[in-house]
Amino acid sequence: MIRILTKEDCCGCQACEQICPSRCICMKIDDEGFAYPHVEQNLCIDCGLCESVCPVLNRNVPRIPLKTFGAVSKVPQVVDESSSGGAFHDIATCILKQGGYVYGASFDEHYDLCQVCIRKEEDLKELQGSKYIQSRNGDSYSKINQQLREGHKVLYCGTPCMVAGLKKYLHGNEYPNLITIDFICHGVPSPKLWQLFLKETLDSYSVGHKDIAAISFRDKSNGWRDYRLAIELKSGKKIVLGKNGNGYMKAFAANMSLRPSCYECQVRKGRSHSDITISDFWDITYIRPDLDNNKGASLVMCNTKKGTDIFSKADMNFFEVEFEKALKHNPAWGMEKKDMPENRNEFFTRLNDCDNVSQLLADILRQPLMKYLKYEFGLLKYRLKLYIKRTF
Ligand SMILES: Cc1cc2nc3c(=O)[nH]c(=O)nc-3n(C[C@H](O)[C@H](O)[C@H](O)COP(=O)(O)OP(=O)(O)OC[C@H]3O[C@@H](n4cnc5c(N)ncnc54)[C@H](O)[C@@H]3O)c2cc1C
Ligand code: SF4
Ligand code: SF4
Ligand code: SF4
Repeated sequence: MIRILTKEDCCGCQACEQICPSRCICMKIDDEGFAYPHVEQNLCIDCGLCESVCPVLNRNVPRIPLKTFGAVSKVPQVVDESSSGGAFHDIATCILKQGGYVYGASFDEHYDLCQVCIRKEEDLKELQGSKYIQSRNGDSYSKINQQLREGHKVLYCGTPCMVAGLKKYLHGNEYPNLITIDFICHGVPSPKLWQLFLKETLDSYSVGHKDIAAISFRDKSNGWRDYRLAIELKSGKKIVLGKNGNGYMKAFAANMSLRPSCYECQVRKGRSHSDITISDFWDITYIRPDLDNNKGASLVMCNTKKGTDIFSKADMNFFEVEFEKALKHNPAWGMEKKDMPENRNEFFTRLNDCDNVSQLLADILRQPLMKYLKYEFGLLKYRLKLYIKRTF
């Protein structure tokens, strides 16, 4: 029977909950807003299945990609609506054209994030784009199992731990009709913080959830590198939170709001065994500055032959790159440990009794002056280097 001794040991993939034949595991939300399995012990038949599918207990060996590509969609609107260069959209389109199913993260009516399944190209838009929150897997693994057995093509895109959980749930069976995509993952912020931040932001504009038309965490109206959060309202108005008003994304970048398992992630370095890993291709600026128009580019790491085959069918502008060079300024792929801020516990304790989330974020993230100046100076230097590279 699964036992969570420390919260770091559970990434919340829900594989154990979905495999349990006695249905005696349910996910319970903790004080920080993250879900963990809870076992109804008197119903447990001690079959051990929950332990056998856990991606944290059963860690995979690391892998490096077979081939790595820089890629940008040929359709500017696709690039605009995606976080990077639209690789997910273009690969998913291939699967949908073959009559397959595509899984990705989408908001429900309460703006909670969950994995959903689509079959039509016009529904792809709801999956596109990074949502920097932990997504709920629901019963997607068991549905996928059924669809694969019926012979359907399935594409599943999620965090590396979600992909690793799916593979364990399928007991390592290599279905030729399953394609998995993950991304380089910084970590997932608390859904509770997201809901509090969203409500407070909407309240300050005297609107509610029902007034939202769309949300983008990577609004590109000021370019690809700005991480602007944009809430588009049905009235046509757009609330845009740039660098200064965006405590939510600052907390994400500062590792303040992440799930405990993300600080010592067990599935980085290609351990998810996905077919393809996508990410932001920041190094395009150094490798192919002629193609960097500050609208976004994807890095596509093809980890298996199946992944390479499906990517070759996606109709994108692409070029091959050396894997190590391509990740020079994107360290998260190989990073096994990241520092947990000393005041993370204080942050979540105060969040439980807080009537001004933005103020709490500002207080908790306030850096000593020298550290702040050093960061701003570093950013200025980076932007200057980019400008010189592009201009001359
Ligand atoms: C929480 C998170 C952390 C990330 N950290 C990094 C990083 O450190 N470095 C880096 O280079 N890239 C990171 N990325 C990936 C990056 O933001 C882009 O998603 C990636 O570059 C692919 O862009 P794209 O244009 O090809 O596809 P996109 O259109 O951006 O497609 C993204 C895909 O991911 C799915 N997805 C979105 N949010 C979630 C979620 N919360 N949980 C599960 N699935 C989701 C979508 O449904 C879609 O299938 C992260 C993404 C997320 C969601
Ligand atoms: S041991 Fe079997 S019955 Fe018990 S919780 Fe795990 S999967 Fe369920
Ligand atoms: S990591 Fe997944 S399978 Fe393992 S205990 Fe957590 S939810 Fe269950
Ligand atoms: S950092 Fe690791 S544990 Fe955290 S969501 Fe990403 S893949 Fe899962």
